[in-house]
Amino acid sequence: MLGQMQDWPLLVSRFLEHANVNHPNSEIVSQLPEGGEFRYNYRGLSERAKKCAQALTRLGAGSGDRVATMAWNSHRHMEIWFGASGMGAVTHTVNPRLFPEQLVYIINHAEDKILMLDISFVPLIEKIASQLKTVEKYVILVGKDHMPDTSLEGALCYEELIEAESGDYSWPSFDENTACSLCYTSGTTGNPKGVLYSHRSNFLHTLVALSGDTLGVGARTTIMPVVPMFHANAWGIPYAAAGAGAKLVLNGPIHDPETLHTIMLKEGVTITAAVPTIWLGMLKHLEATGQDCGKLSVVMIGGSAAPRSMIETFQNKYGVRVNHAWGMTETSPLGSLGTENQAICDLPEDVKLDIQCKQGRPVLGVEMCVQDEDGNELPRDGKSSGRLLVRGPWIIKSYFKNEGGEALDDDNWFDTGDVSCIDEYGYMQITDRAKDVIKSGGEWISSIDLENAAVGHPSVAEAAVIGIFHPKWDERPLLVVVPEKGATVSHAEMNEFLMDKVAKWWLPDDLAIVTELPHTATGKISKKDLRAEFKDYSFPKA
Ligand code: ADP
Repeated sequence: MLGQMQDWPLLVSRFLEHANVNHPNSEIVSQLPEGGEFRYNYRGLSERAKKCAQALTRLGAGSGDRVATMAWNSHRHMEIWFGASGMGAVTHTVNPRLFPEQLVYIINHAEDKILMLDISFVPLIEKIASQLKTVEKYVILVGKDHMPDTSLEGALCYEELIEAESGDYSWPSFDENTACSLCYTSGTTGNPKGVLYSHRSNFLHTLVALSGDTLGVGARTTIMPVVPMFHANAWGIPYAAAGAGAKLVLNGPIHDPETLHTIMLKEGVTITAAVPTIWLGMLKHLEATGQDCGKLSVVMIGGSAAPRSMIETFQNKYGVRVNHAWGMTETSPLGSLGTENQAICDLPEDVKLDIQCKQGRPVLGVEMCVQDEDGNELPRDGKSSGRLLVRGPWIIKSYFKNEGGEALDDDNWFDTGDVSCIDEYGYMQITDRAKDVIKSGGEWISSIDLENAAVGHPSVAEAAVIGIFHPKWDERPLLVVVPEKGATVSHAEMNEFLMDKVAKWWLPDDLAIVTELPHTATGKISKKDLRAEFKDYSFPKA
């Protein structure tokens, strides 16, 4: 027997429609790549997103066509997200931090028909345009006054396209399983692979993102997603903000702590989200200037592990709760998040802090387990670590164009490539990426734990740990450190510092000082490149 409720396809245009009707005056503030600031509200976003849909139709984009964006977080980017996906096309968010060869690969692989780009990326695209096989139209996201002189053939001006449309448009209805957006993984191994989200998966992900135990975005929230819209859907915040009618602050190309902080105070930001590197800079800025965080109440940290010292400082010094989250492009990205549950809420503060350093508990809709190499599920004891597997309605089924073959096992589990354990309270902890784990004498050393402990040292600005061949133990850890300006640090001093923070046999066998570490396009330390840099390194003879 079937239920007798309405069949209402879960389409992302519903979020904007909801915001337009119920929160028309909630503000959206956007920093423009061409300079200056733009302010409007959900009514304005709704009107212009409709005009954007009309303009895209006029340019020849139809259902299923890929409309690529190469853009910072901005109101225009929001308009394309809703405009392109809302009309049935697929919004492909291209990460401008990828290498040019990867950009060519991705845009050709996605078969993007229209490329809409910020003025900042025009020189980059001009260099590779001759290799882009499918792009028919380039649209530059500026007004007429800022239209650059460009070699991009027939380049169009976004604001002119919008002005020419009436906005008299109704969002079409279609199957909720229709493709909505496309995002490529950064290709830490091999070519980048496309993750094709559906309207349904984005919709369900948003409903969960709105819960108080997750992002906790509500109509009273002012949210600033510093995490870029081209990186794993900006963790779902653009949809969640519209779904809640929250005030939305978009930082454009601005990533320096000083200006971010000024915007945060001026706009009264209550929730913000980014990778640890951004917060490292912000905390230094606060320390140097003696300022506070204004109305900020929650900072979401994910993408890489949040070090204990960072969580502690935000909470104890600035009164800002840290929600440490785990996810990946393949998981839309919300997988787990560290809000407190009944089991831990009465534990002592320092124990709770230990738990916050973990990557959180699965959000509703995501199932998680840890398996050993033979496929046996490991106990939830906080110690047994193995491959982290996930499944659920916003977890990938297969990569775009089936790249890489079958992505799931027979029980529909997706192997995340992360090594982790789950504790008795349900909190998951990433101990490493499978390929970064250091195998010493048959036991595993977590490079992440060592790195997090090392960055707690006052002379350390950034730290990475890689496994180096060792004749007796197979591999041993090498700690690579970027010292703070003017500071020095020795191997002995570092090991002394780490002694009470990690197991004794984990202590690095050597320390290398470098001026900078290689980073991936998503801002994480590139262990692949670091290993290449140190491929001829060998430990000093004892
Ligand atoms: P890539 O880095 O390959 O582009 P993603 O950006 O999708 O891929 O990152 C996903 C990976 O980032 C996860 O598999 C995990 O290794 C890492 N990650 C995400 N959040 C955290 C976290 N809070 N702590 C540690 N690692 C994390």
